[in-house]
Amino acid sequence: MRRTSRMTTTPIRATTPAAGGESKNQGTAVIVGASLAGLMTGVALARIGVRVTMLERSRALPRSGAALGGVDEQMLQRITGTAHPDNATAGRSVAAGVQSWMAVHARLRAAVDADPRIEIRPRTTVRAVGQDADAAWGITTDRQTFRADVVIGADGHRSVVRASVAPGKPDATFAGYLIWLGLTGEPALRPTRRFPRDVDILDSDDGILLGYPLPGPGGLTAPGSRQIGWAWYDAGHNDLLREKGSVVGNVVRRSLAPDDIPEATFHELADKARALWPAPWRDAILDCIDRRAVLGTPIAEYVPDRLVNGRLALVGDAAHVPTPMTGSGFGASLHDAESIATAVGKAMDATPMAQALRGYEKERLRSVRRMVQAGQQFSRSFARAAA
Ligand SMILES: Cc1cc2nc3c(=O)[nH]c(=O)nc-3n(C[C@H](O)[C@H](O)[C@H](O)COP(=O)(O)OP(=O)(O)OC[C@H]3O[C@@H](n4cnc5c(N)ncnc54)[C@H](O)[C@@H]3O)c2cc1C
Repeated sequence: MRRTSRMTTTPIRATTPAAGGESKNQGTAVIVGASLAGLMTGVALARIGVRVTMLERSRALPRSGAALGGVDEQMLQRITGTAHPDNATAGRSVAAGVQSWMAVHARLRAAVDADPRIEIRPRTTVRAVGQDADAAWGITTDRQTFRADVVIGADGHRSVVRASVAPGKPDATFAGYLIWLGLTGEPALRPTRRFPRDVDILDSDDGILLGYPLPGPGGLTAPGSRQIGWAWYDAGHNDLLREKGSVVGNVVRRSLAPDDIPEATFHELADKARALWPAPWRDAILDCIDRRAVLGTPIAEYVPDRLVNGRLALVGDAAHVPTPMTGSGFGASLHDAESIATAVGKAMDATPMAQALRGYEKERLRSVRRMVQAGQQFSRSFARAAA
């Protein structure tokens, strides 16, 4: 039998001595989900003295593939306390503000691992959350209960915490298209033309393509040593998504893994890539198709009406899901992390937690709603044009 570990409820006003003899309140937080938004929030909370337990469904391995555009490096440095690993060369032959998802994850994970106030529990799936006047808690599928002063849902677009924060609107909805994603390396390719430095956005009657060079292994950014990522927006395979259970009703369930993608679809994509996309992006796409290293991610959207309920709160994609075309989901998650840490800090200074969290909602709700709504205009016209 596995040992049940419980985080004790530390009263929010309990005090522990802080450096310099100053008295500093200490609180506790449970964060559901230890991906980018969860890691950022964990670091921001630990920095103000909160003890954080992070519950993460998957093993400690990061997922690969996607790139993050519009990364606010200064803000990321402020939260992680670490500089960009390839600061010296960044920006020379990869576009400024574009970083690989894995590199950002690694930096955040290193910041979390270095902080003794944060504990991460992998392979721990939360099935429900609850609260009373004194505490909030998460209950896992193996019946452990983790209690704390605040429970924060950073559990992505299919959030279970959202059902308790916004019971009237628990689900993100399918935007009507998917993105085919691939990642390859310049050294393995023999492109017929050189890859550019910047993000390329190509539009055709049959889709939109984003191509982007990323730093290669070890942060190398010289042409010839970079990674090449691409994202192909496609509204023509919604039947496949439904057939495979990736989209059920109006709700996105999961991405298409390479094994889910029929051979006929790979052939069709290869033919279309040859017809639609110019070199060198076509070369990168065909390489990924040849290796069957392609993911199909159905796009979800969520415009929030609420971000908090009592001692429960949402950050990141659990709180708001814009189309990736906005390039703003990660940046919004950074702001969420800073803002919720400020709110919890106020609770540590005697403001009741529910009131402090309402301050977080007040600060963030309007701008994240606008962010998602701006992307919905793109989604509607893209899905309609391709239907
Ligand atoms: C294809 C694509 C491209 C994107 N491009 C950009 C971009 O260019 N720029 C940008 O700013 N943003 C972009 N985004 C958005 C950005 O990646 C996210 O907004 C950001 O990473 C925050 O994600 P998250 O941590 O909130 O959620 P997720 O990454 O979904 O993480 C949720 C975590 O919670 C865990 N979890 C889920 N349920 C449970 C549970 N019940 N119990 C325990 N753990 C659980 C999951 O395992 C996962 O680790 C893109 C998104 C996609 C899909």
